[in-house]
Amino acid sequence: TPGALTVGRWPADRAATDPARPAILDRGVTVSYGELEARATALAHALGEAGHGRGARIATVTGSTADQVVLFFACAKAGAMLVPLSWRLTAGELAAQLTIADPSLLLVEDDHLPVAEAALARLGEHRIRTTTLGASGVEAQVPDASAHLGHGVPADDDGLLMLFTSGTTSAPKAVVLSHANCAWNNLALSRATPLTPDDVVLQVLPQHHVAGWNIQPLLAWWVGARVVLERTFDAGRALALIERHRVTATMGVPTTYRALIQHPDFVARDLTSIRTAIVGGGMLDPRAAEQLSQQGVHVQQGYGLTEAAPNVTICRDESDAGTVGRAYPHVDLALLIDGRVEHGPGTGELLVRGPAVFQGYFRDPDATAATHHGPWLRTGDLVARDAAGRIRIVDRVKDIVRSGSESIAPIEVEMALLEHPGVADAAVAGVPSDRWGEELVAWLVLAEPVDEAALAEHLDGRLADFKHPKQYVVVEDIPRTTSGKPLRRALTAAYTQERADA
Ligand code: ATP
Repeated sequence: TPGALTVGRWPADRAATDPARPAILDRGVTVSYGELEARATALAHALGEAGHGRGARIATVTGSTADQVVLFFACAKAGAMLVPLSWRLTAGELAAQLTIADPSLLLVEDDHLPVAEAALARLGEHRIRTTTLGASGVEAQVPDASAHLGHGVPADDDGLLMLFTSGTTSAPKAVVLSHANCAWNNLALSRATPLTPDDVVLQVLPQHHVAGWNIQPLLAWWVGARVVLERTFDAGRALALIERHRVTATMGVPTTYRALIQHPDFVARDLTSIRTAIVGGGMLDPRAAEQLSQQGVHVQQGYGLTEAAPNVTICRDESDAGTVGRAYPHVDLALLIDGRVEHGPGTGELLVRGPAVFQGYFRDPDATAATHHGPWLRTGDLVARDAAGRIRIVDRVKDIVRSGSESIAPIEVEMALLEHPGVADAAVAGVPSDRWGEELVAWLVLAEPVDEAALAEHLDGRLADFKHPKQYVVVEDIPRTTSGKPLRRALTAAYTQERADA
């Protein structure tokens, strides 16, 4: 018998009672729970027969599609691990991730064949079989694996998803999430931000990111709700879909919500069907939250990381405003302060423990050990915890700027700048300074002309003088990871290079 928490049986349970119920709406095509179950079972069988069964890794390069959902459940049934790779990668980056993941099969959507072929060419000799993904592709014919992998039913601790982190602080790392990690993450979600079979989820974040599966979609397919799947995010289309499908639940990063607000249709569309709107990956600034609230969308700020599958904390009521809320059920938190694990209030690196937390990076025991403190996962995030257990994110430990004797958290300065109506987007980071060690630079995207004097006046009273940026750079846009985080490293590197050239 399969493990108690294995994910492969979820669509089977729903198909048994309610086969005609829609599971996925993908560009005008509806996939019912009955079809999802039948297609996933057939594909799992084909994968097993061709040698891509239990223990295999199946990589993809595709936009978000219903086909990939079928493949996910097929992998879950067969005991294989799905490795959804970003279609935004260059051939070199893709080759590097394929080397780490070492899949037996690579499924590629037609649009992305050139980059995938270039990546495979760079690898030289390899055992990866390649085919196209789609109705007439993978289900019609699965190429035989060069080395046959095991049969047998999946266990709770078998890997189910391999996800590369956003790569904000270092090269992306291959996080393995097991069936049990995903099931526990769902249990936590279903207690803190539940969905019912009547919910309609709009999924805009990509399937090569943890939020493409583990925040709302898997919970939706667990309870029998429907997911409107966006291949890639487009603000105007998302607004129209919310109105047309009476969307009740969605999840986005701060840039997702800011793009909705800045779209000309934002005020005209009826968004009042939305009951749950989760923000993760970063803090949504209060001005944006207020603009959404005026349209009837009341966001819930959360915090997580891929390694924690990803949900760690969520805001539940007004008293949590300005923080990322409190721990999800089944999630234990502690602080690492001066090398000691502390369980009370204070400021330190956030530690996380629980059954949803991953077991390690794929084939990388050193990186896995480095990210743990005893049984605790080190998040790399500096946080402040109050007596009620609310967590406020100060910033990444690595991004804290030391200027003279002061420490500055770039997030705090970014939030203050975003409160200015002329500032459409902002990123702040430290650059080397002869005088201060590091000094603060702000990169701004302006919605209207704003001069430095006006910005200084805006920051007076909001931030202490030492937190005011020393330099402002106006840019067309801020480079971000796919999960919406500003690439501060890229900005500072370009800045330092330009100064050196000048
Ligand atoms: P890498 O580990 O490769 O640098 P990454 O950490 O960006 O990539 P993710 O797992 O996508 O990979 O991001 C998790 C991180 O996102 C958290 O550790 C935290 O720094 C940041 N984050 C998530 N939610 C919030 C939030 N609400 N406010 C501030 N930061 C957040």
